[in-house]
Amino acid sequence: MINELNPSKRLLMGPGPSDVHPRVLRAMTTPLLGHLDPEFLKLMNETKDLLKLVFQTENKLTIPMSGTGSAGMETVFVNLIEPGDKVIIGVNGLFGQRMVDVAERTGATVIQVNAPWGEIIQPTDIEAALIENPGTKLVAVVHAETSTGVMQPLKPLSKVIHAHNALFVCDMVTSIGGIPTEIDDNEIDAAYSGTQKCLSAPPGLAPVTFNARALKVMANRKTKVQSWYLDLSMIQNYWNDERFYHHTAPITMVYALREALRIIHEEGLENVFSRHKIYGTALQSGLEGLGLELLVKKEHRLYQLTSVLIPEGINDFEVRTQLLTKYGIEIGGGLGELKGKVWRIGLMGYNATQTNVTQFLAAIEDVLREQGFKCEPGAGLLAANESIKDQVSI
Ligand SMILES: *Cc1c(COP(=O)(O)O)cnc(C)c1O
Repeated sequence: MINELNPSKRLLMGPGPSDVHPRVLRAMTTPLLGHLDPEFLKLMNETKDLLKLVFQTENKLTIPMSGTGSAGMETVFVNLIEPGDKVIIGVNGLFGQRMVDVAERTGATVIQVNAPWGEIIQPTDIEAALIENPGTKLVAVVHAETSTGVMQPLKPLSKVIHAHNALFVCDMVTSIGGIPTEIDDNEIDAAYSGTQKCLSAPPGLAPVTFNARALKVMANRKTKVQSWYLDLSMIQNYWNDERFYHHTAPITMVYALREALRIIHEEGLENVFSRHKIYGTALQSGLEGLGLELLVKKEHRLYQLTSVLIPEGINDFEVRTQLLTKYGIEIGGGLGELKGKVWRIGLMGYNATQTNVTQFLAAIEDVLREQGFKCEPGAGLLAANESIKDQVSI
């Protein structure tokens, strides 16, 4: 006999998935509607409207694609790129590297602009690449690099990219619902995201948004989109008033996304952003209070994902195992060139609370101490609480 499913209780404080809001879980247990039921069509429209609010855009083509964040990445590249197009991609972490891989598979000529992992992509480097490669169609960067914890400033890039008549594409998988995306204000032409990071829904949908400039590029394609499944010229006609059947929408995931967006809208976007900032900064102060060092310098840090350097002599795997088995807390290890060098700690969406900061700092202090790490007892919590007090009194 195979036992009934009964997963252990976890606090998901890694780079995603993060814990799902109970209201989202509840929405997912409601009965299915058919994907062309008029009642479901209404839910689709509401989901699109909420998505525009949370993405901070008026873009008509703002819809969730079926699949995880990477499907969103692929959607943007297969729909905007044709074989032979020149594409510039900023690479300062794993997800920039993934964009290169995806873009190359579309037949694009990819020019990489690199920065060390843990630092931002420099607008001057993008500008130099644009000058060196006239006729570049598109430039892409990762807004919130979950592999490092870096927040990429967008405005300076936007200016440079548009001065060279290229499209500006952003990976916003970890940004949405955590930090401002300001698609319209930043003049981002296309962006993609995911449901399982700061939206606090399970992995399974990839919200994407395209502005008029991007739509024009798609309308002028000479070749068919290589992917049938991700071809927006067909999928748009399911999400607009034509309601043309393309593939069966993952009904339950649309329920989940709609509820997740509704929760964010209820709290208020500005409140959601400031909650991430307050508790993310508190966690960072707490880690520093324990004597740990963070990978990213202060002005370029994300709030929803923090990379902390693993101290000398401390066993990476042991610490993560202890956190999981003793406290039920999951954090992430390092990826790529940061493997074995950092831990990645997420405070995303529903999880960005003082309770979780306190619980995590207490747990990590205990586990590190067991490993022989020397620190002032309670110094992490003290620093975190000071940081919260400072921010709330402003
Ligand atoms: C998680 C993540 C992705 C990939 O999303 P999946 O849901 O794992 O496919 C892409 N980009 C960034 C920045 C991410 O954090």
